[in-house]
Amino acid sequence: MSKYRRVLLKLSGEAFGGGSVGVDPDIIAGVADEIAEIVADGVEVAVVTGGGNFFRGAQLQQRGMERRRADYMGMLGTVMNCLALQDFLEQAGVPTRVQTAITMGQVAEPYIPLRAVRHLEKGRVVLFGAGSGMPFFSTDTVAAQRALEIRADVLLMSKNGTDGVYDSDPRTNPEARRYDQLTYTDFLANDLKVADATAISLARDNGLPMIFFDLAVRGNIARVIAGEKIGTSVHA
Ligand code: UDP
Repeated sequence: MSKYRRVLLKLSGEAFGGGSVGVDPDIIAGVADEIAEIVADGVEVAVVTGGGNFFRGAQLQQRGMERRRADYMGMLGTVMNCLALQDFLEQAGVPTRVQTAITMGQVAEPYIPLRAVRHLEKGRVVLFGAGSGMPFFSTDTVAAQRALEIRADVLLMSKNGTDGVYDSDPRTNPEARRYDQLTYTDFLANDLKVADATAISLARDNGLPMIFFDLAVRGNIARVIAGEKIGTSVHA
């Protein structure tokens, strides 16, 4: 039984590449199956894809590229992730639509919020690609914006191999402690890096609840949708 009617699921680039460059079809097929299960339960699902498994603008900038062009490369990477997930969702019997913030009519619809909502109402999964279409933003921020625009009940921030928000990086600090719950203000005050501050402040200013959870554990999407207390919930 779902606690939510409509959710926005943010999948980072890591969720597609399993930590490597490019896409790992086995991982994506697994995520698609999990999404198919919750769609079958009647939950309306929209997805924002990250692109860090291809390019991150800031990293390319450090290697000598002009930031804005590098950011566009980053955004194009997110579209490839959309298409990969679309493929496995359709194979799992789930109707999908991809909408991109940079127009590319041959592969996707343009981002049209009201049409996206209509797709959701018809049981289609909507995959939002190309970020915001604007350099200097992150897909975390886009996830918060899209969640607000389509009136999602919750923003589900999936992490790969990390089961929530910690007070310091658990990969480098064995003493790091996980929060079960956290306010937006504490998240920002502690300068926690697991999502960017723009995303958190957008969620805070508009009262959008967020849950950070580990996507690497099979079944976690259904658990979080059922309202099980896994991961870290961020709220007012
Ligand atoms: N990006 C951008 N504008 C956006 C969203 C993304 O310029 O609105 C670029 C930026 O270079 C970013 C890259 O796309 O580094 C991939 O997105 P992100 O780093 O958010 O992906 P994730 O960390 O979730 O894999």
